[in-house]
Amino acid sequence: MFRQWWSIVSSDSQAADRDLEVELASADAGTVGVPVDAICVGCGRIRVKRASLEELNQASHVDPATLETADLTSFKHVCHPCGGATWWNPVAVLTGLLESERGE
Ligand SMILES: [Zn+2]
Repeated sequence: MFRQWWSIVSSDSQAADRDLEVELASADAGTVGVPVDAICVGCGRIRVKRASLEELNQASHVDPATLETADLTSFKHVCHPCGGATWWNPVAVLTGLLESERGE
């Protein structure tokens, strides 16, 4: 169901083969923070990750739904192909997943 939503909203061709909801639910994504699509600087793969507002260099009172991707900073997260923690560059804030979690 998210796949369909995503294909409408996103122009990212890579997203067509992915299930963002499943990625977000995986332990690799983390358990707290804002769901973002991020690219690993080590291997270049794109995954859903959770990053805290602090990690993204945003004020803690900001509504995550209003974040501009361009304002977000790289954050450290584990990448298994890279064998440990690497830097990830946010490419999109997944507001659809965010709103789904809030029950909106
Ligand atoms: Zn990697």
